Parts: sequence; structure tokens; C-alpha cells
Amino acid sequence: MDGETKGNVYDIQKYSVHDGPGIRTDVFLKGCPLRCLWCHSPESQSFDSDLAYMEIKCVGAEECGLCVSACSRGAISLGEPKPDLKGDKEIRRPVIDREKCDVCLECVSACPGRALYDPKKSMTVEEVMRVVRQDKRYYEKSGGGVTVSGGEPMSQFDFTLALVKRCKAEGFHVALDTTGFAPEERFMEILPYIDLFLYDLKHMDSAMHERLTGVPNETILKNARAIVKAGGRLQVRYPMVPRLNADDKNIRATAEFCTEIKDGIDVVQLLPYHGFGASKYDRLGRPYRLTNVQAPSDEFMKEALKLFQSMGLNAMIH
Ligand code: SF4
Ligand code: SF4
Repeated sequence: MDGETKGNVYDIQKYSVHDGPGIRTDVFLKGCPLRCLWCHSPESQSFDSDLAYMEIKCVGAEECGLCVSACSRGAISLGEPKPDLKGDKEIRRPVIDREKCDVCLECVSACPGRALYDPKKSMTVEEVMRVVRQDKRYYEKSGGGVTVSGGEPMSQFDFTLALVKRCKAEGFHVALDTTGFAPEERFMEILPYIDLFLYDLKHMDSAMHERLTGVPNETILKNARAIVKAGGRLQVRYPMVPRLNADDKNIRATAEFCTEIKDGIDVVQLLPYHGFGASKYDRLGRPYRLTNVQAPSDEFMKEALKLFQSMGLNAMIH
């Protein structure tokens, strides 16, 4: 039964207005084969469980401290006293030794306030649909729908296919937010159920693409051409990161590739880099590697936009 197909989800966000037309529900699937240096969802990367810690939800060892005794590996100790969120008293918070932690998640079960958590949730298609259906009237009024995102949703292909089939059967507009890094035949199989592909282009030079994301770009570019040839619609997204992929040569090469598949593109979105995801790396105890990168200036983004538009593309800064 398709409704019973299980997948690993890490979040479902309602009332989204950034991932396709109208008001949408975004379903974020866990696991991605890429490791983009600027990734602002590090919790989406691993296909497995993670131990995450959200300081804002922790009441501290004086009132709780249950995680310390729950960890049989001795991976949690108490840090130095630091002001609580209101700043009116000092509390000691847990410090996780990631070398000792084997992600057994005993501390997650012990934590009463969900300060410690595993972003991975196993859900059936039907369980996701129950959430999706709640906002049906907003989709109808706004021309919105459902966006299946990640991570890379094509990496959980059976679940994603079952989910988008169900969404289409119930009359919802469906967008698939993808890196494009999956076998072409899978894109062809899922294409009849996708109204819009949100499709990332990260670097046009394959060696640079591999340095920035961990994989080369040939499959991604080939799939973009194949989707357009088969009648699919693309909303291209170009995350522009100064010093990494937002130089004149790559901007022009990206625009030239877009003109090649222009007939299948609804819009090209130029996404200026931001470092908003950095705090999520802290939650997972991982380093954020782009601490020295600044957002591109408005003037820079406007110049890039002009170039895309001068080549006859419907482009916007998003
Ligand atoms: S996940 Fe397990 S090993 Fe890791 S800190 Fe929690 S209880 Fe300890
Ligand atoms: S169990 Fe949770 S709330 Fe209690 S001290 Fe540990 S992390 Fe904080």
C-alpha cells in the first residue's frame, strides 16, 4: 500500500511562501548525497539519526540534568555556569563529547524539554498527507500546494514517488526541490506527478562543483536537459556565494546554460548567500566552514540580474 510507505522526514513547514507558487506545505526529507559548503540545513545531510542540542530549550543541570545520568558512555558533562536566557541567574548546561557519543539517543529519551533531539522522524505517506491536507483551502485560495524538499528527496525515491502520487491524486500542486543528483530514469518516472522542479545550479565547472558540493555536475546538467526535453517545468535556483561560485565567469556560464534550456524554465531565482544556518551547525556540534564569507552586495546582485535578463531569461533576486 503506497500510503504505508515509510520515509525519513526531518521537518514539515506550513505556510511557506518561498518554495514554489502560493502558500505551501514544505515536506523536508532527511539525507543528501551532496555536502554544499554553504548548506543551511546541516540536519538534513545525514541519512541517519543525529544528536542535536538546542540551548534555548534547556533548563540546565540545576533544575534537570537528566541527560548526564542517562548517558552510559559518559559523553555528557556539565559546562561552566553561564547566564540563562533571561540573564537573571546562572545555569550549567550539558556539554557533549562527540568523540564518545555513539548516537544511542538515550539522552533524547531522558530530556523532558526536547532540548536534545533527533531531527529524523520516520513517517508514512499517509501520516504526511494528514498534515498536508490541513491547509487545502490555503492552497486553493493562493494557487499553492506541496513542496517535497530535503535533503535530496530523490534519494528516498520510493517514498517520494508514493507521496507525490498521493498529492496529485488529491489535486494538489506539487513542487520537487532537488539537487538534480539522481539517476535520469528516476526523474522520468516521477515527472508526470511534478508540476514544478525547483532545480539548483551551483557551479558550471564540474571540478569546482565537486570541490564545493562533493559531487561533479555532469549528472545534474544532463538531468536538467532531460527534464526540459520531456516537458517538465523548472524554477532554477542559483545560490550565489562570493568567492566560491559568484564570479563573473560562473555567472555568465550559468546564464548561458539557462538560455540553452530556456523553454522549460519558468523563472531563474538568484539567491544571495546568507549565513543564517550557522547556528544549526552548533546544535550538531559541527564546524561551519564559511564564517569569513559575506553576503553579496545589492549592487552586485543587481548586476548579475541584469546579465540574466539581457540574455532573455525571466530572472529575479529571491
Ligand atoms: S546519544 Fe547516547 S552516547 Fe550520545 S550523548 Fe546521548 S546518551 Fe550519550
Ligand atoms: S535533559 Fe534536556 S533539559 Fe535537562 S539538562 Fe539535559 S539537555 Fe537540558
